[in-house]
Amino acid sequence: MDCVFCKIASGELPSAKIWENEEFMAILDGSPNVKGMTLVMPKNHHDSYVFDMQEDVAARFYLAAKNGARMLEKAFGISRVAMVMEGMGVNHAHIKLYPLHGVTEKFKEMWAKDRVWFDQYDGYVSTQLGPAMPLEERMEIARQIKESNAA
Ligand SMILES: [Zn+2]
Repeated sequence: MDCVFCKIASGELPSAKIWENEEFMAILDGSPNVKGMTLVMPKNHHDSYVFDMQEDVAARFYLAAKNGARMLEKAFGISRVAMVMEGMGVNHAHIKLYPLHGVTEKFKEMWAKDRVWFDQYDGYVSTQLGPAMPLEERMEIARQIKESNAA
């Protein structure tokens, strides 16, 4: 299989590894947008859509990511790391860990300055808020979601 993460896991391609156990490994992303951006991945190939992952593997995967997050907290003197599972770049399961540089308190309310809205996926997700949506509009969307999941 021509999978770049499988090649990294096997050692065929080099990586900046920070941690590994029998089943998972954590490496620094090759194109980070913050210092220490880390990818946690299973050494065996799994497709990248987390909600299709076998539950016991997913549970251990989360614990591996938690371990990576603790390492980043300690390394950068921060109190929080964000975790994202998007999986649209490489189809090998991976969790992206983003050290929240500058965040030294366990919780302090912080909001992005700008708002954003996406009509469709454009290669990335954002945690910025969008414009306020009226309750009636949200209730209509909720109705559609429930209706399409009714037995
Ligand atoms: Zn793979």
